[in-house]
Amino acid sequence: MNFHVITIFPEICQAYTDASILGRAQKTEKGKGAKVKGKKIAVDYYNPRDFVNDKHKKVDDKPYGGGPGMVMKVEPIIKAWQKAVGRKKDQKKVKTLIMSPQGKVFSNKLAREYAKKYDHLVLISGRYEGIDSRVKKALKAEEVSVGDYVLTGGELPALSIVDSVARQVPGVLGEFESLEDERDTNGEMYTRPEVIEYKKKRYKVPPVFMSGNHAEINKRRARTKK
Ligand code: SAH
Repeated sequence: MNFHVITIFPEICQAYTDASILGRAQKTEKGKGAKVKGKKIAVDYYNPRDFVNDKHKKVDDKPYGGGPGMVMKVEPIIKAWQKAVGRKKDQKKVKTLIMSPQGKVFSNKLAREYAKKYDHLVLISGRYEGIDSRVKKALKAEEVSVGDYVLTGGELPALSIVDSVARQVPGVLGEFESLEDERDTNGEMYTRPEVIEYKKKRYKVPPVFMSGNHAEINKRRARTKK
C-alpha cells in the first residue's frame, strides 16, 4: 500500500510514520535464513507550498462570499496530487480522501476496505478554514472525518487513517501483534509486576490471569464488556 499525504506540515507527520510499526513496515527486513521480506507500505509527503510559483509561497487566500479566516487554494493541491498519483495507469486502485470535520466518519471497517481495494491512498490535509470545495470535485475525492470534533488541521486525521489502514495490510503487524481479536474482548490486560503499590494501596493482577487456564481467562475477558 502506498500512502501519499498532502500537507503543509510534512515534517510533523513523517516523525510519526517513521517510528515503530509503521517505520518498520517501510523497510526491507531480513527474515528467517537468507530471506528478505519486502516493504509492506510506502509513505510519501507532498507539500502544497512546493507547487506554488509566487515568491510568498501562498497556499491560502480569502474566502469568496466573505467570512472569517483563509481557504486553501485549489492549484497547489491539484499539482501535488498529480505528482503523487496523476500518472498511475490504474486509477481504480487510487483513492483520494480529504480530511474534513463534515465528512463521513472513518471506521475500522473502512480501514479494512481501503487496505483491500486500493494500492494508493491520497490523504489531503486541510489547514485554516478548510479547502476550496472544487478540489473534491476535480479529484473525485471523498471527505472523511475522524470524529465529531474539530481540529486545527488535517494532519492528525490523516495520520490516524494511515495508521489504521496500514495495520490492515498483510505483514505489517508482526506475529506477536494481534490484529482484531482484542476487539472481541473487553481489553482487560496485565503485565509484570504482579503487584504494584501506589499511594499506599496495592493493586494485584486478578488471580485468573496467573492461572494459566485459558478457558477461564477467555471467559473473564468476554464477561466484563464495557
Ligand atoms: N472551519 C471549519 C474547520 C476547519 S478545521 C469548520 O468549521 O468546519 C481545519 C482543517 O482541519 C480541515 O480542513 C480538516 O482538514 C481538518 N480537520 C479538523 N477537524 C477534523 C476532523 N474531525 N476530521 C477530519 N479532518 C479534520
